[in-house]
Amino acid sequence: MSRWVKHYIKPIPEGEEPYVVDDSIYKRFDQRTNLTVGRRHAYEKIQEALNGLLDVRANRAQSGRSGYSQVDYALFASAGVIATRNGTAMNHSNRGLTSWTSLGAKLLPGLEPWEGSPEKATRIVKRAALFFGADRVGIAPLDHRWIFSHAFWEDGSHKEIVFREQDAPIETEGELQIPEKMRWVIVMANWMNPEVIAYTPSPTGTAETHRTYSRMAYQVTAMAEFLRSLGYHAIPSLNGLGFNIPIAIDAGLGEQGRNGKLIHPEFGPSLRICKVITDLPLVQDHPIRFGAKEFCEECDKCTRHCPARSIPTGGPTWEVPGAYNHPGVFKWHLDNESCVRYRAKSFATNCAVCIRACPFTKGPHWVHNIPRMAISHLPALNPLWCKLDYRLGYGKQVDAQRFWRESV
Ligand code: SF4
Ligand code: SF4
Repeated sequence: MSRWVKHYIKPIPEGEEPYVVDDSIYKRFDQRTNLTVGRRHAYEKIQEALNGLLDVRANRAQSGRSGYSQVDYALFASAGVIATRNGTAMNHSNRGLTSWTSLGAKLLPGLEPWEGSPEKATRIVKRAALFFGADRVGIAPLDHRWIFSHAFWEDGSHKEIVFREQDAPIETEGELQIPEKMRWVIVMANWMNPEVIAYTPSPTGTAETHRTYSRMAYQVTAMAEFLRSLGYHAIPSLNGLGFNIPIAIDAGLGEQGRNGKLIHPEFGPSLRICKVITDLPLVQDHPIRFGAKEFCEECDKCTRHCPARSIPTGGPTWEVPGAYNHPGVFKWHLDNESCVRYRAKSFATNCAVCIRACPFTKGPHWVHNIPRMAISHLPALNPLWCKLDYRLGYGKQVDAQRFWRESV
């Protein structure tokens, strides 16, 4: 963590929750409702757009448009290969590298489980996470509300996710069973380089998203094997199993922004999150604030830049735009349907324009810490920083040709 950060992050007051949930409405999310993996099979408009995805890519690649050549699409497709092949998928549970059982790295059979205080365990787990390549790591308690009620797989199968008094996590014919004693989540945050995100929504830019998923597929697998080698259980996960953003908020890694992303105090929304659930007792981190929500109330840059008009104006609300959204949380709700359709029909990539445009997405230069400090301590200046961000031309798409001109 940069030494500046401690000057502008604040722990949320004791007894306060970092989000507002109406437990009389809120139900655990059914992954079959998710437009990226589940509902798309039952939702004609999305299915139609996704069916044509490869054709869109092929046509674009022949269009001669800068940043959308065969080379750019090749970079996009190949960067995600670790997270999307050999049984692994970003959104799926207990498949490939996200297996709930050991992949064979148990080096010391016959030993008793490692013993140490939660403080010591937390230290070694965090050190290992950074060694495996995570940029930041936090520990959250496992809040069952954020775990999906049902998991869904690409072949159309689905299973209920349940919590049981048992020793190990298992998948049965009808259920994914998580032991009640698995109460800690190791959350790993991975920075996406804003210089590459600046090329989005071109495939060169979104290759950074895919590259980050590949990095995370390795990290969750390595972390799970590490925990199993210590004699504990582990459930590695990318986007499957549950919502990453509230889990990351619980782990003290940021606040939720208008664009629906986690806003990290150093990386803004330019990051991806992965997680490993374990029964190794750990010390949980504390949720933080640094003025992101108040800044989003003033700023609407992601709304204006979103090519699909999927990001709301106004303040946070209980209203959800469609049946594919998740009610019961007071926040900014994206129109996921138009977002998914745009991504499939336009450039057939991950888009990420709402990350590129965000004033919190800046490189690590020290000068960006000045507005971050002001946003945290002097919110009255937020309109000024919004205007300045526009004036200085931050957040515009950069021609991806520049990427290929970098010296090698
Ligand atoms: S990913 Fe693109 S289309 Fe979706 S909300 Fe962000 S900017 Fe809009
Ligand atoms: S662009 Fe502005 S409104 Fe959107 S998430 Fe970033 S700070 Fe918030």
